[in-house]
Amino acid sequence: MKILKFGGKSLSNGEGLDKVVAIILDKVNQGEKIAVVVSARGNATDELEDLLSIAAKNESYKPLLEQFKLEQQNGFADVDLTEEFNVLEKLFEGVSLIGDYSSKIKDQILSIGEVLSAKLLTAILVKNGVNARFADSRELIKTDSKFGDAQPIEQASKKNVVQYFKENDDAVNIVTGFIASNAKNVTTTLGRNGSNYTASLIANYLNAEELQNYTHVDGIYTANPDLVPDAKKIDYLTFNEANELANFGATILHAKTIIPLLEKNIPLRILNTFNHENKGTLIRSTASKEGIKTLSVLENVALVNLEGRGLLGKTGVDARIFKVMGDNDISVSIISQGSSERGIGLVVAADKASTAMIQLEKEFENDFYSKDVNKISVTDNVSVISIIGQDLSTFHKPYTALIRNKIVPILFNNTVTGKNVSLVVKKSELNRALNVIHGEIFGVSKKINIAIFGHGLVGGTLINQILESATAIEKRKDVKLNIFAIANSKNVLLNKNGVTPNWKNEIQNKGTLYSIQDVIDYANENHLENLIAIDNTASADFVENYIPLIESSFDLISSNKVANTLSYSFYKKLRKVLADNQKTYLYETNVGAGLPLIDTIKLLHLSGENITKIKGVFSGTLSYLFNNFSAKDVPFSEILKEAIDNGYTEPDPREDLCGNDVGRKLLILARELDLQNEFEEIAIQNLIPEHLREGSASEFLTKLKEFDAVYAKIKEEQEPNHVLRYIGELSGDLQSDKGNLEVKLVSVPSDTALGGLKGSDSFFEIYTESYGDRPIVIQGAGAGSAVTARGVFGDILRLSDKG
Ligand code: ASP
Ligand code: MG
Repeated sequence: MKILKFGGKSLSNGEGLDKVVAIILDKVNQGEKIAVVVSARGNATDELEDLLSIAAKNESYKPLLEQFKLEQQNGFADVDLTEEFNVLEKLFEGVSLIGDYSSKIKDQILSIGEVLSAKLLTAILVKNGVNARFADSRELIKTDSKFGDAQPIEQASKKNVVQYFKENDDAVNIVTGFIASNAKNVTTTLGRNGSNYTASLIANYLNAEELQNYTHVDGIYTANPDLVPDAKKIDYLTFNEANELANFGATILHAKTIIPLLEKNIPLRILNTFNHENKGTLIRSTASKEGIKTLSVLENVALVNLEGRGLLGKTGVDARIFKVMGDNDISVSIISQGSSERGIGLVVAADKASTAMIQLEKEFENDFYSKDVNKISVTDNVSVISIIGQDLSTFHKPYTALIRNKIVPILFNNTVTGKNVSLVVKKSELNRALNVIHGEIFGVSKKINIAIFGHGLVGGTLINQILESATAIEKRKDVKLNIFAIANSKNVLLNKNGVTPNWKNEIQNKGTLYSIQDVIDYANENHLENLIAIDNTASADFVENYIPLIESSFDLISSNKVANTLSYSFYKKLRKVLADNQKTYLYETNVGAGLPLIDTIKLLHLSGENITKIKGVFSGTLSYLFNNFSAKDVPFSEILKEAIDNGYTEPDPREDLCGNDVGRKLLILARELDLQNEFEEIAIQNLIPEHLREGSASEFLTKLKEFDAVYAKIKEEQEPNHVLRYIGELSGDLQSDKGNLEVKLVSVPSDTALGGLKGSDSFFEIYTESYGDRPIVIQGAGAGSAVTARGVFGDILRLSDKG
């Protein structure tokens, strides 16, 4: 025999009830032997409780009662429910007259919900040709007289159940869950959600082969799917694991449900009435290989903390605390006390916290005088996350992930049995904390949430590169890259689930005005974790957002060079804020675009290698100009014109020719070596003849020929087999505070590496003590949106490897 139990949502009007009938018909037609246990339909129990409190306040309850009756009867006018409705009317009238009710009366009223449910279902089944029979569990399950939370008496109940099922063996028995009666046949209930318990008791008494619990969810999940979208269904659980879950807030099961099943080793299957095909979760005694982990949550709790300097070594303090809790019927879910015994923290239901504090203050009044106790406080709005099945040997993983996301637990503890680690976090951080822990312990892809500022050439290319390779990266690295924001200087496009390839249109049509705080708020409100902000602008203004972003838990990446070339004091300040917030800032593309230059220098420096000199061609534009000018026999202006026409220069080519950009890049490298130079200290050779430095760009573009004489002369005056190169050079004592930074046009032998440079390549030589006079050389395309975007992408992957 199998016991089928249907919950309230399964039995509600419309789709639910139809499905329940279909499921039962199916089993009956297949010749399966079943018995059915039902809850009250829909929210009937809640509605009856509401009606009770309204009636007790002497308010008008009748309209609501009429509505309740209509709902219960809805669609089945021919089923006779008058007896139950009459009982309700009489009882409510009494409550309304007296203005109060006992828990005994309450049980009588609530019990009608289950009676209505079982009667109606029986009638429908009979109409469908099933030999169904209504069974009132008040005549079967006997309990003590603790109304509202009655304890079954096994012997009597078992005898009744066995007897009844023997006599009614010919029928499909439809049994009321939740309700029972005491020795005097007065109605009792087993506690809210008690129908599961009824079903498991009956399964136990009848030695059923399985209990099938039909709910409105597909089974038990690794976490509540409403809170954690990535939560996965668990196929198998052991009874012990299920019991831990029931104890830690998972509401699917009544806490006592497991025990009768465990006793007889009866498997329990959690199924979805509305998704018949699904296999659900099977709870049984055999364990799965790796053991199971789940997250469960206690939401409405508060932390009571008792602090006392004089408590060390005193005996009986904890006993007094728990006596206070016991006397006031306050259940304590988590206790934490350090070995210093200077304080003890207790987690209690939120609505009991102030009582707990007041009563503790009373109890410890004298200890306040003697200064043994100095403070009793309550932290409201906290939540407990329990990681069930969590070994302490791997607990550092979820813990580190939390810290990385700036969630610092207020308290944590573990149980020796059940492998259970509980963390108390601020309620406002609950959702994000759950998702972070879940992502970490289930090895589901780590989600990286990215905000991209600037979607011009580099930014736009980057967005498309990310969208194109996200799937492959998820497969290879278990990292899910999610662009949740794209912004330009005015508008932002926000989508917590990730922007689509159609982002360009969307930001144009749906983009909204924003401030940086809006993006930060959006990330917070949607509990986005592992945040990265990417600055692909060239804007000095945007740099002002760096510190607020870091303080809001964003790591930073920029192709924008400004932040690293402002004053040294800002440079230091930014690093301090980063360190304080345990955040990282990467900017590989600041120099040499995607070439792995900064990373290499960083590693060399970090490993203690003495870098003695860095020298190179830092600008792709100027590389092109002088490589070609040196190789060809044409005037300088012709090459310059070519570069302008091909878009190799800035709109005003003087920005390239003045050398400041090379200077900035050189400064960035110098600072990487802890040198404290300022931009003003760089000796920069400006390539623009003095009389062309002022005036508009368009005017300048008409005077390019005026370069020719100057550069023809320079070219001529070189030694034989020499070529011109515009380089940056960092030299001097690089172990001191400042180095020599020079940007200059030099003439070098054409048979050297530098002299052999072609096209628009960038070229860097890193001289170090160990490498002696044979420098490390890094050479390649050092400009262009595709390689720069790739470089930024590389920084994203470096960050996603962190922690
Ligand atoms: N109807 C009862 C309740 O809502 C019992 C149950 O549904 O299991 O608590
Ligand atoms: Mg680079």
